[in-house]
Amino acid sequence: MTGLRLYNTLTRQKEDFSPIDPKHVRMYVCGPTVYDYAHIGNARPVIVFDVLFRLLRHLYGENNVVYTRNITDVDDKINDRAARDYPDLPLNDAIRKVTEATNAQYQADVAALGCLPPTHQPRATEHIEAMKALCERLVERGVAYVAEGHVLFSPEAMNAHKNAWPTYGKLANRSLDEMIAGARVDVAPYKRGATDFVLWKPSSENEPGWPSPCGMAGKGRPGWHIECSAMSMATLLEPFGGGLSCDDPMRNTFDIHGGGIDLVFPHHENEIAQSCCAFGSARMANVWMHNGFLQVEGQKMSKSLGNFRTIREVLNDWPGEVARLNMLRTHYRQPIDWTEAALAESVAMLEGWYRKAGDVTPGAVDSATLEALSDDMNMPAAIAAMHQISDPASLKATGALLGLLGQSAAEREAEAKAGVDAAAVDELVAARLEARAAKNFAESDRIRDELAAMGIALKDGKDASGNPVTTWEVKR
Ligand code: AMP
Ligand code: ZN
Repeated sequence: MTGLRLYNTLTRQKEDFSPIDPKHVRMYVCGPTVYDYAHIGNARPVIVFDVLFRLLRHLYGENNVVYTRNITDVDDKINDRAARDYPDLPLNDAIRKVTEATNAQYQADVAALGCLPPTHQPRATEHIEAMKALCERLVERGVAYVAEGHVLFSPEAMNAHKNAWPTYGKLANRSLDEMIAGARVDVAPYKRGATDFVLWKPSSENEPGWPSPCGMAGKGRPGWHIECSAMSMATLLEPFGGGLSCDDPMRNTFDIHGGGIDLVFPHHENEIAQSCCAFGSARMANVWMHNGFLQVEGQKMSKSLGNFRTIREVLNDWPGEVARLNMLRTHYRQPIDWTEAALAESVAMLEGWYRKAGDVTPGAVDSATLEALSDDMNMPAAIAAMHQISDPASLKATGALLGLLGQSAAEREAEAKAGVDAAAVDELVAARLEARAAKNFAESDRIRDELAAMGIALKDGKDASGNPVTTWEVKR
């Protein structure tokens, strides 16, 4: 058995994974901005990194993995939505309504997709003091400055320093000079450099705000990038002896940072800039992992194209487990085309596995599947290996490792029946028996076909006194 290998966006190659502290393997994944229902594209990182979480727990021990997925509940998109949906409420009350409702829906959606709760789910609003402390540290170090109520980070100042910290642009593989050359011309007047980004900005009376850092009067709110630097510090560094009060930069790196490929630049590049400059560390996280994008029926998903699918909508049509498997059948780094045809195939694949596994107690995880997973989560290879498993107990355990095949036969039967109008089926079954009694076989066959199209299979028999009876079940 070879060890875990992961593709690292930072080095652009697959590397042997070795945790900084095998008793506390630490992973951070950027979570949702809670202003609207999550779409099926947002589900991809959640499912992909849930599989990695499960794999790490399997390899390093259930209690030895710390997984943080944050909730961004400070963002201007939230403010806009709150003002639109609750025009009569004070903005801060409206914001609370939007974020609470959206977060509750998100938690229900991802649970239905079979994802384990992460160890920590910090909310940005709970870590404002840490964000302010980071702003102050970055100003002290000369890589950030205060201007017109803002705190801004200067990538140029970062790269001018001869220090342990990395070069700005390394993750995205872009040079700062090119970025400067390509920057928009209408740069905000308070910015010294075209690539400077916001750590903190002023809030009007009506906007969410906290007393500003760096000696500024008035209230303000954090920018998006600093939120993740603060929440990863609070949950993955400070509990392990790192953080702003730690003078050993080696303690200020965690193991894995993940998110969708769209976050590489600027979000992750900026997270790295903030964290590495604040701590003097060479890496914010050792391994940077990014999932590819999701499109629907061959097209980019967008509201204007009418092919926008929320997780909720998908779960109305398909069991969560089907959606989960469907997401996992494409390698996480490849783009995925989300199609109804693939979902139907996923149904059949799960059926086959459930039929083979039956109701057995899970045994040992299949080594060929584990090998495939350990090779940068090669899910297509893992699924191919799962098709070769003949031992039901091993199939069940291997499914469990992926968050699949967890239902008992009784649960599956109940789930299948829940989607069927039993009274209507009973009526059709009775009508068919009558047609047969009257020897109207054309009609009885027609009813059988109608039921088959509804996914109902019939079994004809006789009762104790020899009268024909028909029972039915939901076909798999
Ligand atoms: P957002 O709420 O837009 O910040 O996105 C939350 C997460 O979903 C991030 O990790 C994004 O990279 C990811 N994401 C957004 N859209 C898609 C998509 N179409 N396909 C895959 N991942 C996506
Ligand atoms: Zn982030």
